[in-house]
Formats: sequence, structure tokens, C-alpha cells
Amino acid sequence: MKDRFGRTINYLRISVTDRCNLRCIYCMPEEGVLPLGHEEILRYEEIVRIVDVARELGINHIRLTGGEPLVRKDLIDLVKWIRTAGIPDISMTTNGTLLAPLVKPLKDAGLGRVNISLDTLDPEKFRRITRRGSIHDVLSGIRAAVDSGLNPVKLNMVVIAGLNSTEIQDMARLSLEMPVHVRFIEVMPIGPDPTVARDGRVTLEEIVAEVKKVGELEPVPHPDGAGPAESFKIKGGEGTVGFIAALSRPFCTECNRLRLTADGKIRPCLASDLEIDVKGILRSGQTDEEIRRLVKDAFARALELKPQAHHLASYEAQARRMCQIGG
Ligand code: SAM
Ligand code: SF4
Repeated sequence: MKDRFGRTINYLRISVTDRCNLRCIYCMPEEGVLPLGHEEILRYEEIVRIVDVARELGINHIRLTGGEPLVRKDLIDLVKWIRTAGIPDISMTTNGTLLAPLVKPLKDAGLGRVNISLDTLDPEKFRRITRRGSIHDVLSGIRAAVDSGLNPVKLNMVVIAGLNSTEIQDMARLSLEMPVHVRFIEVMPIGPDPTVARDGRVTLEEIVAEVKKVGELEPVPHPDGAGPAESFKIKGGEGTVGFIAALSRPFCTECNRLRLTADGKIRPCLASDLEIDVKGILRSGQTDEEIRRLVKDAFARALELKPQAHHLASYEAQARRMCQIGG
């Protein structure tokens, strides 16, 4: 699939739930978001039907995300069915708290790689950022992921001034000791309180300068061949580091993705409120053939509506939050 700016779209990020067992300050309000009702959420069979059409249109990489994907029951079955639908590359973004016991069955079901969020190595700060949960569960999840042979295992650190920015070097050092890809992410104004991003912003240059204090950076090919993070190895390291700076260095010209929200809407861009409903099509009671045609049309409309670039730097609030759209 190509959009009207000539970008090849081969990557679909699917939010399987808007629910989460954590409440990260840059993502969710303390009280959580009013969860979608059971009926509003796409059923796994519906997700697989959409994936089947998407594959025909050229999608070859699916990422499962949320909310927290692992709070949804029987996720292993969904991974299996997506794999059976012919998607060669299946990945997941998770907060890691529930990952350790599930890693092996997920890998056996067809999961190829995983991104785990880890913003700090300090248990007390972890509680302050996530407002609940235990860092030890996340660290066990990371260890289990590395041991399982999932590759690459990426660690996502959202950098916030005055909160965890003093830990950039410690996080970078993880890539010296373990075969992980540590990604430093500029905080984006897509959470409940846009001031967290505005006041907490640490620019790409500042982040890179901190990482360079750990050691010399050698450019390396991206661990999975593509994506928004430029990759480097710190001299002598087992793993790599990368930088995702949607504000300092937008990667919109290379954007290759669409999103599917938990309530069944195709979202052409994380940072734009435009959405196209597909759940209504799936539940319209029409023939399978007609439904496939209409879902295809919905993807075509999403391509038409995909903006050329985001406007996150204006720090304007969006109608829906990241946890609702799928991060
Ligand atoms: N719950 C899972 C997790 O935390 O990994 C998946 C969903 S989460 C919304 C996906 C990614 O978005 C996480 O790595 C998280 O750190 C990142 N994220 C959430 N809010 C963000 C923000 N305001 N700015 C930058 N990244 C953010
Ligand atoms: Fe939950 Fe992930 Fe958002 Fe944190 S970033 S509140 S773990 S969805």
C-alpha cells in the first residue's frame, strides 16, 4: 500500500485493549480512563478478519499494543491466529509486568520480538512514574525475554526532565551488559496533562550528549532493518542504543504505519484525531465478500487521510489519549 505522499505502508499497530495495570504519568490519568465496554472492543476473530485483509494489501508487520496488551485474556491465541493468517513479523509493546511467565508461549505462538517499557532502574522512582506495579516484575520480564531468544528485545525509556533524565547513562549502560536495544524516547504531548511533556522535555541533543558520556557511539544498522530509531553501539557493548525524537526530529517522511484502535477504528496517524470505523462494517451482517470489500475501502480511505506530518510541537490536546489509540 502506498499513501498519497508515496510512503509504503506495511506496518499495522493493533491496540488490543485500552486497559492497563499501570498509570504512567505521561500516558494515563491516576484514575485511569473510563474503559470501553466489552461489546465495544474488537473480538479476536474480528481482529484476525481485518488482519487478513491488511495482509492482502501489503501489511507484513503487526505490533500488538494497548493499553497493556498482556492484561487481555488469551492473547497467545491471537498471536497464533495472526501468524496463521500469514503475517511473518509479529511484535508487541508491553510494560513487562506480566511478561515473564508468558514469554515462552508467546514466542511459540509466533511472537518474534518485543519492546518493553522501562523508564528507570530505581524502584521508588518506578512507583512514582507508573503509580503502581513493581519494577522487579519488569526486570524479570526483560530477563525472560532475552533468555527466550526473542530478537531484538528493545527497552523503551521515555525521558522526562527532573524525573528520570539523570538515569540516561545508567540506561545506556544496560546495552553494554545485555543484548538489548535501549531506545531513548522524547516525551510527547499525548498524555492526560500536556505540561508533563512541555515542562519535562529533554531534547534529542541533550539525550545524545548524556549517552556519549558512557562511551563512543558507532553507527550500526537498525536491529530490525527499519523504524524511527537511529541505532548505535557503545564501544564494547553487547547491545545497541537508539533515539526516537518525534519532536526534535520527526520521522513522518519515513512513516510506514497505520493503527487499529481497540474499538475498531483505523487511525492513520497517532497524532491526528482522524479515524475510520471498521467495527461497524464487520458487524453489519453483510456477506463475507462485501465485508472484505468494505474493509479494503476503509484502508484506502485511511491512506487518503494519512497526514503528511504531525503537529505535536504545538502541544495541543488530542481528543483521545495514547492508551486509547494504542501506543
Ligand atoms: N502498555 C504498553 C507499554 O507501556 O509498553 C504498551 C502501550 S504504551 C502506550 C506504548 C509506548 O508508548 C510505551 O513505550 C510508552 O512508554 C510510550 N508512551 C506513552 N505515553 C507517551 C508519551 N506521552 N510520550 C512518549 N512516549 C509515550
Ligand atoms: Fe499503561 Fe503503557 Fe500507558 Fe504506562 S505507557 S500507562 S504501561 S499503557
